[in-house]
Amino acid sequence: MSLKLDGKKLALEIEQRLKNDLDSGLIISNRSPGLAVIRIGDDPASGVYVRNKEKACERVGIKSFLFHLNKNVSNEDVKNLINELNNNSDIDGILLQLPLPDKLNAQDLISNISPLKDVDGLHEVNIGKLIKGESALRSCTPAGIINLLLSQGISIEGKRVVVIGRSLLVGKPVSMMILNQNGTVTIAHSKTKNLVQICNEADILIVAAGRPKLIDSSYIKKGAIIIDVGIHKLKSSNNNTFELCGDVKLKEVIPKVTAYTPVPGGVGPMTVTMLLVNTIFSWQRNCGIVSTVDDLLP
Ligand code: NAP
Repeated sequence: MSLKLDGKKLALEIEQRLKNDLDSGLIISNRSPGLAVIRIGDDPASGVYVRNKEKACERVGIKSFLFHLNKNVSNEDVKNLINELNNNSDIDGILLQLPLPDKLNAQDLISNISPLKDVDGLHEVNIGKLIKGESALRSCTPAGIINLLLSQGISIEGKRVVVIGRSLLVGKPVSMMILNQNGTVTIAHSKTKNLVQICNEADILIVAAGRPKLIDSSYIKKGAIIIDVGIHKLKSSNNNTFELCGDVKLKEVIPKVTAYTPVPGGVGPMTVTMLLVNTIFSWQRNCGIVSTVDDLLP
């Protein structure tokens, strides 16, 4: 039987822990943690993600402040808002919900967020600290993946790990985290040759290609662990219903693996939880409270 790496369950357990950390921190601090969420435009998927994040904050006791801007806002205006939030002592974290409208420059705006409030872990200072193996805010999805593995006693040390995808959001930071955990990592991408053969060497295969059902059982070594980062909403053949799926043909892959992440309910919930972990980390630092979440920031 293969083990389901249940991100939903782990997310709830971590939320409970954060709630306790927050309650005890409030004895020292005289304010709750604050998260500013900047949403630009009316992309419905972004709306759902933002609402999920707000609800998660509420469950744990983090105050969230939504700044919903018009899709025609200028880069300069967003920078001004970010600067205000950087200087607001009630705000511990600033989240810029991606993707942004085309005319805005996401990387430039992220660079303007104070690295101390960069709760998405995407600022170059925090990426640099990840590379150096120093304690800092970590990219949420990659950190969620590492926590899912470690929470089940799955050691990464000495394992051959293949990551499909080299984005700044997922592929590159998760590869660095694996290296920091003493795994041996290969990063594959759209120009990689012999992908099936490379994947068959993996003890752990992490798929973040953004291609629905790209990976079938021919890519999998028997007994491997598969992490499916992709999330897609596909129309059924009659166009009336939708199916949520990842980058992996899970049904045919599950009998071959020892552990897998479901879609939905695997990596997704952990991404939201890591945002909360980062916000608590930042709040504790700002309020002079000793960090209680270092073990969750790989
Ligand atoms: P991305 O920026 O589009 O990057 C995709 C990466 O996959 C690129 O490096 C690309 O290679 C590579 N790739 C694409 N097709 C490939 C193929 N056929 N063979 C090998 N490599 C291939 O995507 P992302 O932001 O990293 O996200 C990846 C997926 O994860 C998406 O489905 C996204 O929705 C999902 N996601 C989920 C969560 C969550 O919380 N569950 C969070 C973030 C992302 P090149 O660099 O050569 O183009």
